[in-house]
Amino acid sequence: MVKTMRAVKIPCEDTIELHQVPIPEPQKGWVRIKMKASALCRSDLYRFHGQKVFEDTGDESFITPGHEPCGIVEKLGEGVDKVKEGDRVAIYLAIGCGHCEHCLSGNTVLCPEFKCIGFALDGAHADYIVVPQECCLPLPDDMDFVTGALSTDVAGTLYTACRRIGVNATKTVTIFGIGPMGMGGVLIAKALGARVIVSDINEQRLALAKELGADVAINSKEVDAVAEIKRLTGGRGSDCVICCAGNNIAYNQALDCAKKGGNVAFIAEAHGITIDPSAQFINKRLNVMGCWYFNCCDWREITDFILDQKVPLKAIATKLYDLDDADEAFRLFDSGKTQKVVFVWD
Ligand SMILES: [Zn+2]
Ligand SMILES: [Zn+2]
Repeated sequence: MVKTMRAVKIPCEDTIELHQVPIPEPQKGWVRIKMKASALCRSDLYRFHGQKVFEDTGDESFITPGHEPCGIVEKLGEGVDKVKEGDRVAIYLAIGCGHCEHCLSGNTVLCPEFKCIGFALDGAHADYIVVPQECCLPLPDDMDFVTGALSTDVAGTLYTACRRIGVNATKTVTIFGIGPMGMGGVLIAKALGARVIVSDINEQRLALAKELGADVAINSKEVDAVAEIKRLTGGRGSDCVICCAGNNIAYNQALDCAKKGGNVAFIAEAHGITIDPSAQFINKRLNVMGCWYFNCCDWREITDFILDQKVPLKAIATKLYDLDDADEAFRLFDSGKTQKVVFVWD
């Protein structure tokens, strides 16, 4: 008899279903992982809203979502030699060809044949997942599974962005949008020693950001965020800016509050934004970067940083759920009334 497992499916808009599906067998070079923690991500909600993250992934309606997971290696496919049964691992979401210029330089997410776990193939909101052994990132012994899951997309993306825009103890960093990604940015930027300003319109999120170490919290519904940031920086503007809010106002404020020659990282997915390049970044000589995810080779550095600096990533995991309650978990996460929602297994 075929053994089955639970797996979340989003067959159509506004519908979360829990299906019983066969437990997948690892093919040659792949491994099966027993899930221990799998975080929800805003990109999981695209399909829930009838949209797509990646245009070319075809019919995603019966792909299991979930790309921020941690678990234990449970079964090895033929020829697997980089991991063994019982290994605690986080899972890297990208599968590349392995030999193009991008794969060879560690930028697997730029590979022309890039496939994303949870979008092009079954993801981690399920009891088990199968992935190529190359996607297994070793989880340090003293890192728990929830922290491990948050160390992938949240900490991995924000740590990489902070490094790229030169965040350090001499800099003021302004973060727009403090959902889970922006909140991860607060934790990482504080751990790097920076002065951190956050801007959002949600009082609860602003209060949590202050609790987690943000130096100044601006409610941009009530005050002119750009003017306030200029005032707080002696009229110069913010050295570094991270935009984690995918709307026109935040994108414009991110460019406008940056100091001349400053560095701006855009992380929030966005479409159809209107900006004025000459005034907003050419004349100011801004360094503007698009950032998402991290490179495998940085995983050790990212997890060492989180452990050494005691970055309280788990504080962002405000709701833990059993997979049986997937519908409630998705709807709560979609409401924006929580930070990170994470499925956990005993
Ligand atoms: Zn994600
Ligand atoms: Zn490639």
